[in-house]
Amino acid sequence: MDCLFCKILNKEIPAQIIYEDEKVIAFNDINPQAPTHCLVIPRKHIATLNQIEDTDQELVGHMVQVAAKIADQQGFDQTGYRTVFNCNEHGGQTVYHIHLHLLGGKPMGWPPYQEKLKTAVTQ
Ligand code: AMP
Ligand code: ZN
Repeated sequence: MDCLFCKILNKEIPAQIIYEDEKVIAFNDINPQAPTHCLVIPRKHIATLNQIEDTDQELVGHMVQVAAKIADQQGFDQTGYRTVFNCNEHGGQTVYHIHLHLLGGKPMGWPPYQEKLKTAVTQ
């Protein structure tokens, strides 16, 4: 399968792996958007959130728990952090193997996008 993250899982492409267990791995994002920016991915190839099945619920919950554990290890669990799943084009997904972004170490902005008011108020 021609999947970048499966290649990282199979060690065909190098990555800075910071956590590994039987279900998931986590590695540093190549283009970090925060002092800590890593990705938690399942060993199972799932293309997008839309392909998650009932039997994957525990796996996805585990991904979230691993992100929280890494936040604890990195020392920003109390100050806070951002976790993100991007889905498909409008979600900004570029790699089609689900991954949970963990960003921490600085305050995050919110919301990510604010639509400009296009309609003038006339009345
Ligand atoms: P997304 O846009 O949500 O699909 O996120 C994909 C993420 O993968 C981006 O933040 C990229 O910077 C990151 N990325 C792409 N290639 C690599 C790589 N070889 N190693 C680590 N992270 C990568
Ligand atoms: Zn994959």
